[in-house]
Amino acid sequence: MRISPNHPRFRSLETRERLVRGFRSGIVAPQGLIAHGRGEAFDYLFGEITPKSSRVATRAAVALLLNAKTPVLSINGNTAALVPRDIVKLARSVPAGLEVNLFHRNLARERRIASLLKHNGASQVLGVNATSRLRIPGVASLRRSVDAKGIGDADVVLVPLEDGDRAEALRKAGKMVIAIDLNPMSRTSRAATVTIVDNIIRAIPELVRITLRMKPLSKSRLDAIASSFDNERNLTSAMKDMIRYMRGWA
Ligand code: ATP
Repeated sequence: MRISPNHPRFRSLETRERLVRGFRSGIVAPQGLIAHGRGEAFDYLFGEITPKSSRVATRAAVALLLNAKTPVLSINGNTAALVPRDIVKLARSVPAGLEVNLFHRNLARERRIASLLKHNGASQVLGVNATSRLRIPGVASLRRSVDAKGIGDADVVLVPLEDGDRAEALRKAGKMVIAIDLNPMSRTSRAATVTIVDNIIRAIPELVRITLRMKPLSKSRLDAIASSFDNERNLTSAMKDMIRYMRGWA
């Protein structure tokens, strides 16, 4: 369906259309459509803008990515459908690896996602039919299996729209986890090292912009930015951003 750019809810409706198209072309799982609905509800409570707390988290996330030895961006169906170009741009700017990692795993979908990323400029996509896989202990879903050369070997993993179990397990496996999740109360948000509470459609382009800006900073300056970040405190700020916005209505 074509949506007029003059529609007051253009961005939100256009995002839904992208997911529906992604679903029809076998990129997005049906459960991904429902998960997006939960995200949208929280986005509404922020006034559909990037809150200040999210900007603070973005800087900390970029500091971790730029200082990492083997950073990897984990890609699921919704991420691929919503921000294929920008996630590849982010991988190139850091630079970081890209790994397809699905909750509802199936090889055909993995291949379609990898080819969409390649079509958007990715030179290598890990996680598809990988010969060498590792199991992260403590995860019940098929996402426990990761590419040994990708997330398996990563020190910093960016996990947009993650499930809580896996975020916790990745932390337990000694990795630093950057989550993008509109729900500041989710287990993922709580388990991550840095949580960006924002919509992925705004968060990824912002990560690209800040990466390019922070790239010239020294390792020690980046270390200082990352270590002064406190995720729990920032999640409290995100909740306060939400409450402030709602007060404007109440
Ligand atoms: P958890 O296990 O971490 O508590 P959950 O069970 O609440 O998570 P899931 O259904 O696994 O959540 O995944 C959906 C999550 O992704 C939700 O927290 C939702 O807020 C978030 N989400 C969905 N769409 C977006 C989006 N476009 N941008 C950012 N976050 C999103």
